[in-house]
This record gives sequence, C-alpha cells and structure tokens, in this order.
Amino acid sequence: MLDRRRLLQSVARMVEKPDVRALDLSLLATVREIIAAKSISLYSLQDDNEAATRKLLVPIKGDGESVAAGTPEGFALEASSEFTESLRTREKTVIPIGGGVRIIHPIKAKGNVVGFLVLECEKDDPHDQEIVSILLAFYKNYASLLHDSQRDELTGLLNRKIFDERALQLIASMRSIKPTGDGAGEYCLALIDIDHFKTVNDQLGHLVGDETLVLFVRDMVDAFRGADLLFRIGGEEFAVILRDVDLERAIAVLERFRHAIEERDYPQLGRMTVSVGVSQITSRDFPTNVLDRTDRALYCAKQNGRNQVCAHEHLVAEGKLNVVQRDMDAELF
Ligand code: GH3
Ligand code: MG
Ligand code: MG
Repeated sequence: MLDRRRLLQSVARMVEKPDVRALDLSLLATVREIIAAKSISLYSLQDDNEAATRKLLVPIKGDGESVAAGTPEGFALEASSEFTESLRTREKTVIPIGGGVRIIHPIKAKGNVVGFLVLECEKDDPHDQEIVSILLAFYKNYASLLHDSQRDELTGLLNRKIFDERALQLIASMRSIKPTGDGAGEYCLALIDIDHFKTVNDQLGHLVGDETLVLFVRDMVDAFRGADLLFRIGGEEFAVILRDVDLERAIAVLERFRHAIEERDYPQLGRMTVSVGVSQITSRDFPTNVLDRTDRALYCAKQNGRNQVCAHEHLVAEGKLNVVQRDMDAELF
C-alpha cells in the first residue's frame, strides 16, 4: 500500500524550486517512489529549426545524471514509431517488451504534446498508472506556470529575469566540458538592438510597434538554431546565447541575420535594421561581465553608424576598446 505521507512529501518537493529541471528530476523521483518500475525516463520535444520539421527528443534518464546541463543530447522523433504513435493518438501507449511492458505517457500543454514519460514495468497496473496520470497533470500545470513566469508576454521569448540563471548554468557546464576545437562546447553571447525603433512608435503608433516586435521575434526564431537560447532583455533589445560556435562562426551567423532583417519588408513599416554586439563566453565569466562586454560592443556598433555586427574581441585587438578585467580570477584576488 502506498505510503500517503511519503507521497505528499514527494509532491511538496516537486514545487520546492522554481526551476524546470529541478521539477523534472523531482517528478522522476516521485514516480520512482510510487511505482516499481525497471526504468523511468522523461523526454521533452524540441523543434529542430535546421531540419525544418524534424523534432528532437531530449531524454532525462531516471538517475537524473545522464544528461549534461550544457548541450542536451537528442535523437530524431521519426526514428521511433513508439513515440510517433503516442504523439498521434495523444494517449497512453503500452508496448510489450521482453519480460514486461513499456508504457508511454504523453505530456500535453495547451493542447500540444510537449514530451513523454516512459516507464518500463513488469505489467500495466491500472491503479499505478492512474496515479502516474494524476501526478503528470499536476506536473504539467506547474510546468506551465513556470514556463509563463520565465517568458516575456508579448513575444514568448525567455525574459531578462531568467538570463542570469541560464547563463550561470551554462558557464558552470563549460568548466567540465573541454572544447574540441570545432566549435563544440564553445558559446557566444549576442545582443541585438533594433535601430531607431522609437521612430516606429512615433510615426506608426504603439500597436504597429508591438506587431513589428512580434514579427521580428519570429524572424529571430527562424534564423537561430533550436538549441540557441533567445531572450528579450529590454523593449527592443534581445540576447542570444549561441551554442557550439566559436566567435568567427557566431559573427557569420549574426551577419547573415543582420542582412536578412535589412532585406525584409515589415508590414506598414517597410525597412528596419539592427545593430549587434557579440562576445565569446568563457568558463571564467560571470553573466554580468559577459553581458557588459557584449553591451560595449553593441554600443560601438551604434556609434559607428548602426546596422552592423561588432565583436568585443576584435574591437579590443584593433585598440578601439579596452579590456575590463572582471572575470573570476580578478574577483578572487
Ligand atoms: P537606437 O538605434 O539608438 O537603439 O534607437 P532606438 O529608438 O531604438 O532606441 P531608444 O532606446 O531611444 O528607444 C527604444 C524605443 O523602443 C522606445 C520605445 O518607443 C520602443 N519600445 C520599447 N519597448 C517596446 C514595446 O514593448 N512595444 C513598442 N511598441 N515599443 C517599444
Ligand atoms: Mg534600439
Ligand atoms: Mg535599446
């Protein structure tokens, strides 16, 4: 018989930290307490922009240790018919496997399947699985609240509040992963600020300004990879953490984006341009000092006539900017 007190304590732990990963891990721990399962895994569905429609599944295994916080692993959704079946029916799927069953529970948010909880058990016990379904409903509602609290209402991008947290996690993960030289394990921060956006509001009104911001963010989402992190830092200012790229590759990606925006015709407004500052993130950084560096590069782009990408490291090499030493070593001494 299930120990009710332990179950409630477990559920209380699920909402202890306002953090999606902590919630995921505590969901797994709670399910493990309730169900005698051989294995429990949580998968989230992610868009893979590069492959257009393909999606990636990113597993968090039952032990919670298998997935590095830095670069999530994944595989193509189409590779597994078990998942595509559950995605199609949007219902629990039970598949016989050697010595038991694999039970796939789809996780739904706002009508869409956003992930799966997968259990491998001896049998499909209806009582156990009902409790899992109830827990998943609780998990889904809390995850949705967390999701909304981390997002900007107008554009749906991650908000400023969450930037420091994500950047800190990333920098911590960089300390344990050595770059391989092909850009893997290297990260850059870009700040993108729309040029003369005030005149859009002044001449066309705030509503057109808002609509333009929404369309611009869609262009951003299309331009960057699914694994890159996009933030709305301020009104018409955005941050991108580009994953697995060295500085030169990041500059090329940002240059392509800048050019695409310059060429784009926005409804009512017509042409618009962006200025971009970029800097490489190092394992000795703090979120505030990498943001500072990138902001200084953005300022140079604005001062030099806007509609351009400026890299902090290049400006320093050219003697146009001084280095402000405020990394970890400097803080420690
Ligand atoms: P610069 O090229 O120097 O960046 O000029 P700018 O006009 O873009 O910059 P400034 O910081 O002077 O003004 C930013 C303007 O962006 C102010 C405001 O009118 C507009 N803005 C900021 N947030 C929003 C928003 O949520 N909606 C709308 N419609 N406008 C916004
Ligand atoms: Mg601006
Ligand atoms: Mg601005």
